[in-house]
Amino acid sequence: MKKSFKKKGGNHQRSAMSQSAEGDVKAKKHLGQHFLTDEGVAEKIAGTLSYSGYEKVLEIGPGMGVLTKYLLKKDLDVHVIEIDRESVAYLQEHYPALQGKIHEKDFLKYDVSEIFGQEQFAIIGNFPYNISTQIVFKMLELREYIPEFSGMFQKEVAQRICEKEGNKTYGILSVLVQAFYEAEYLFTVPPSVFNPPPKVDSGVLRLTRKEDLSLPCDEKLFFRVVKTAFQQRRKTLRNSLKIFDLPENITEDSIFGLRPEQLSTARFIELTQKIQPHAV
Ligand code: SAH
Repeated sequence: MKKSFKKKGGNHQRSAMSQSAEGDVKAKKHLGQHFLTDEGVAEKIAGTLSYSGYEKVLEIGPGMGVLTKYLLKKDLDVHVIEIDRESVAYLQEHYPALQGKIHEKDFLKYDVSEIFGQEQFAIIGNFPYNISTQIVFKMLELREYIPEFSGMFQKEVAQRICEKEGNKTYGILSVLVQAFYEAEYLFTVPPSVFNPPPKVDSGVLRLTRKEDLSLPCDEKLFFRVVKTAFQQRRKTLRNSLKIFDLPENITEDSIFGLRPEQLSTARFIELTQKIQPHAV
């Protein structure tokens, strides 16, 4: 792996490598590796979880452990999942406290119940940006086990997740996440504190699960309605939801005259309730 990276290394990567200290993990672009170099920012991100109501934490993509080191100071059971063998070797060497808790796996494919069983756990990370959206969707699938989630994405994704209705960036991720979590955009982090620096600003957010996880409508249908509506976000719901083949007396309702970005999570639930008796 090391070898092929060196061969492929362009100028950009080479200059990043020259900034790295001897023995550091070499940043691999295809794994979305941008290592945080500012300890103050790392500590601040580690401080975004409340650490109450659960005893276990999963960090996704620890890299060289800049964030992990602050997590280990908390009185918690910290597990990390890292796809990169070189980073795993680095962590094993530098963080003996993580022994048996470093999982060399792809978060998107791994069944985390192998680590946590049926227990609650928080997720944290300076996440790999190339798979941001997939991480959020997987987190939603696991919501029953995840009371809290915080960390860093590219700024635009973090903002989109926390956006309210009525805004251009409000979309599928905003509605689905906010159906189950309170979403807060916390702060922005500039490219200059990463090695190599990403092309965009980063944003840190926190998601806190709502007390009541169950929706007062069919959940599968809710996901389908939200996704279908935003596939044609400029159209009114009457047009974009034609595929549901609803009777006219239903679509006469004024809610169908709106565009998806005008609907809060609560109104999407209301919409799903109206569609539900007629959905096949
Ligand atoms: N948290 C570190 C590294 C951030 S870069 C820091 O702040 O410096 C993102 C990290 O995610 C890299 O270490 C990369 O190897 C890892 N990663 C990428 N894809 C992954 C996946 N599918 N599962 C687990 N880790 C992944």
